[in-house]
Amino acid sequence: MDHQTRRWEPDRASPGPAALPPMTTMLLRGAMNRCPACGQGKVFQSYLRVVPACSHCGAALGRLRADDAPPYFTIFLVGHLLVPFIFLVERAWEPPMWLHMAVWLPLFTLVCMALLPPIKGAVVGWMLRLGIDGEGPRDSRAEPLPPASASAPARSAVRPGTGHG
Ligand SMILES: [Zn+2]
Repeated sequence: MDHQTRRWEPDRASPGPAALPPMTTMLLRGAMNRCPACGQGKVFQSYLRVVPACSHCGAALGRLRADDAPPYFTIFLVGHLLVPFIFLVERAWEPPMWLHMAVWLPLFTLVCMALLPPIKGAVVGWMLRLGIDGEGPRDSRAEPLPPASASAPARSAVRPGTGHG
């Protein structure tokens, strides 16, 4: 399959799935802080702040509102990773509660903070792949992107950019 990515046109709000790489590629690129669309630019400009647009291909990553999906997935994952160990340790050594707290709380915090950026990056890739921006439905999304050979895009009903409340 041809995974070639096309350069985005600035007036195109969101590309159709045909122009984008496969889902797994986009998830992995996002998790590695790479633009899910082109794999070149970065997703984050700071710890969790998404760049307004990819510096390489111009993909409008900043308008993808991941909201609380990344912390949700992070807590879900970290809980399932670490909670079994808490029970194992309690079963094996029965340490005092203060020791549990002193060990597990910082560990949970550190693991969550370490996993939040890659998980948020993957969520951004996921949203970009599915054409979700977290701002509700857009009527023009139902119309697929014209094939690469077609020169003039037929659609004109692109919702004008609105500020994020
Ligand atoms: Zn890019």
